[in-house]
Amino acid sequence: MKIYEMFPELFHAHNFSNAIEKVKAKSLADVEGALHRAFSGNPTDFNDYLAFVSPSAAKYLETMASIAQSITMQRFGKTMQLFMPLYLSNECRSSCLYCGFSFENKIPRKTLKFEELRIEAELISQKGINHILILTGEDYSHTPVEYISDCIQILKEYFSSVAIEVYPLEVAEYEKLINAGADGLVLYQETYDPVAYKKFHIRGVKKDMEYRLSGPDRGGLAGFRKIGLGALLGLSNALGEMYFIGLHAQYMFRKYWRSSIQISLPRMRPAQGDFHSIIPVPDPEFVQYILALRIFLPDAGIVLSTRENPDLRDNLAGIAITTMSAGSRTEPGGYQDSGALEQFATEDKRDVSEIMKMLSDKGIDPVLKDFDRVLS
Ligand code: SF4
Repeated sequence: MKIYEMFPELFHAHNFSNAIEKVKAKSLADVEGALHRAFSGNPTDFNDYLAFVSPSAAKYLETMASIAQSITMQRFGKTMQLFMPLYLSNECRSSCLYCGFSFENKIPRKTLKFEELRIEAELISQKGINHILILTGEDYSHTPVEYISDCIQILKEYFSSVAIEVYPLEVAEYEKLINAGADGLVLYQETYDPVAYKKFHIRGVKKDMEYRLSGPDRGGLAGFRKIGLGALLGLSNALGEMYFIGLHAQYMFRKYWRSSIQISLPRMRPAQGDFHSIIPVPDPEFVQYILALRIFLPDAGIVLSTRENPDLRDNLAGIAITTMSAGSRTEPGGYQDSGALEQFATEDKRDVSEIMKMLSDKGIDPVLKDFDRVLS
């Protein structure tokens, strides 16, 4: 097996258009062979994964769900990790055409002051949540690494686990944030399609697709305990996105075996701005993709956010999902009703207590605290 220095090398050995054709070419016989392997408890390979993602597998959704459910039970038990996002800022110097925080959007901008951050932290921790994800836009002057580091140190007074979803950084900068107390990195590629990437990312550091593609590698080298990958479904052909997310996750598992790898497939939601280019991904296909990932990568954490509607979230809990956000606000100061603009609209508006009740009713234990540095 060829060893790749960084993911972009492997990425360039493949091609987005060919990837779509490869997935489409998977036959019923390919799907049945892959299902047979999965049913007999044998590991599935990348080709099997492509078969599970392919249109040919659509008629086997129930079988895939039953395999996925037994894998989730074996690897994770009847548990669900809960977290809440905490937006530090909506300042952004980049322009992504699908995002409410985009530089071009003339919206009131806000970056949390430390005292406001403490109020947010109090409000979240009162709900019993111990794991948070902090987010910023891409603005190196309003939210420099120093600011993020200071925020992490404050938040560690309230939470046992602090993950970051900020602009891509260098290894040394990630190390600084780990030393400040961060244990998880989330860096979604948005789209693995170079044509769509160029079309939708028109300004700022985010225009640099290569730098973003190699970001999870830098996180792995820095030593993050958890690394989250994802593609924003709706920007390009979903079959191509699924091909590359599978490739990327498999690469990360092999190379950074000390880190646990999580995957999320956020679907496009309405946001401020004038973006009408969403390629819809219907629910059955979305579910098929999640099941395919679960079967192919049994140890991957799979995250489902409040972008999705309550029914879908409830149904997928216990089948393939291991981590859920709850009661999310997507604007800085959202938990204290700052009135700032949200990054995108959420579908599941239930509070943490309602999500916990839903999980308990399904016999799933909500895990509010998944990690304590003292125990590591
Ligand atoms: S997606 Fe991120 S980088 Fe792009 S405009 Fe929104 S906040 Fe800025």
